[in-house]
Amino acid sequence: AQKGRTPLIAGNWKMNLDHLQAVATVQKLHWTLKDAGHEEGSVDVAVFPPFTDIRSVQTLIDADRIPFGLGAQDLSAHDSGAYTGEVSGAFLSKLGVGSVIIGHSERRAYHNEDDDVVNAKVKAALKHGLVPVICVGETAEDLERFGGSAVPVAQLEKALEGIPTSADIVVAYEPVWAIGSGQAATPAQAQEVCAALRAAISRVLDAEAAARTRILYGGSVKSGNIAGFMREPDVDGALVGGASLVVDEFAAIVRYQ
Ligand code: PGA
Repeated sequence: AQKGRTPLIAGNWKMNLDHLQAVATVQKLHWTLKDAGHEEGSVDVAVFPPFTDIRSVQTLIDADRIPFGLGAQDLSAHDSGAYTGEVSGAFLSKLGVGSVIIGHSERRAYHNEDDDVVNAKVKAALKHGLVPVICVGETAEDLERFGGSAVPVAQLEKALEGIPTSADIVVAYEPVWAIGSGQAATPAQAQEVCAALRAAISRVLDAEAAARTRILYGGSVKSGNIAGFMREPDVDGALVGGASLVVDEFAAIVRYQ
């Protein structure tokens, strides 16, 4: 993390927690951070619940003035129409959603989302005023064949094609081999790839965009390893899966300092 970029700790709940559990979890996380004396604004906190939870969480955040960002885990590349099962960015922003995860490796792997789909979704998010959290990362096989940076950099270059240099985006480097495996990257590995991703932002957008954009690390982040990542200059936060479902653990990650 570096001065000028507020760290962001984001919880990707994946397909976990129904809307009742979601409300209880967000409420408890808020109390836990308050009790721990967590200083609002020092670290941005965001949760990414399933679609069915979003309205309930938004209502709670609004009513209790809870200082968490609210995001979705995916959106349609289309605005409206005959797309059964899809959810448009227009609907999400109307619900008070501020950001949306795009191109998570689980969507790339199980829903055949390629770089063109990711690029279209990034444009759809920006069109509706949502901050795209663009996920990139290499498989274990890619790592062996091409090293850490090549695949994520190529994915990011494609994702950013044709977007304005002023776009407000977040990038998440999530090596596929580290997701849910308990085997996180080392801070040095994460730093190397995040620095390469920042250079890619500078090439495709511009230097100012590269300096301002937050780049997160994701993949088996927990309270015991977060501080090491946050010491790296180009790692501005974390996208947390499994550990974001356990309130005390997620609160400890937010309070990594
Ligand atoms: P994990 O997932 O923290 O459970 O490894 C991270 C992610 O997929 O965003």
